[in-house]
Amino acid sequence: MRIAVLSDIHGNLPALNAVLEALAPFDAVWQLGDVVGYGPQPDEVVARLRDLASTGVRGNHDAAAVGELETSGFNSDARTAVLWTGMHIGAATRTWLAALPETSTSDGFALAHGSLRDPIWEYVMTTAAALANFAVLTAEHAFIGHTHVPLVFREDDGLVETLAPSDGSTLELDGRRTLLNPGSVGQPRDGDPHASAALLDTTARTVAWRRVPYDVATTQSRMRAVGLPTRLVERLERGQ
Ligand code: ZN
Repeated sequence: MRIAVLSDIHGNLPALNAVLEALAPFDAVWQLGDVVGYGPQPDEVVARLRDLASTGVRGNHDAAAVGELETSGFNSDARTAVLWTGMHIGAATRTWLAALPETSTSDGFALAHGSLRDPIWEYVMTTAAALANFAVLTAEHAFIGHTHVPLVFREDDGLVETLAPSDGSTLELDGRRTLLNPGSVGQPRDGDPHASAALLDTTARTVAWRRVPYDVATTQSRMRAVGLPTRLVERLERGQ
């Protein structure tokens, strides 16, 4: 089975559409949270995922947009965007977001937004954080997001190796456990503005990363039109 693994779409419909086109054909979509927040089209993004029968988890932005997480942990621009999202999503989007669990397991893979020990808030960027999460990982592999940076942590005999996948990188899943981050579809932060996503092949036991160009200017003009913060508009073209 070929599974499109998407994280941090953040209401960016042109980025989502470009990624879906680039990863096709696939049999399923897994999403790792922050479906909404920052971007101008939360309803359209949720509708697309609902049509694709995606499975997945909630992120901090999703929980805050439906009023199930305090916004005190957000920086000022993120809070502005999440409050805008909460005020502008329709009832069907709200219901769909509110039903997302904090963690789940799909085909033996653990799914979480931030991390396994703190699914909503923890950023797994260091080997220390990775080790702490391997300690609570009951599955062989986990997909996580939240950092907006494509990254792999692989455990080998108690040591953790870090890999930074780029466009076209393919990882073979062998006996070693991994934490796999596909990067962000809707707001990449590793200096490359192209949308980031991964394709899991459960038969070949491989994960392939892709960077996909999309119409950044269209997303930016929609953000300006609805009055989202300028800093959030501008960072999309820098991928930061
Ligand atoms: Zn995010």
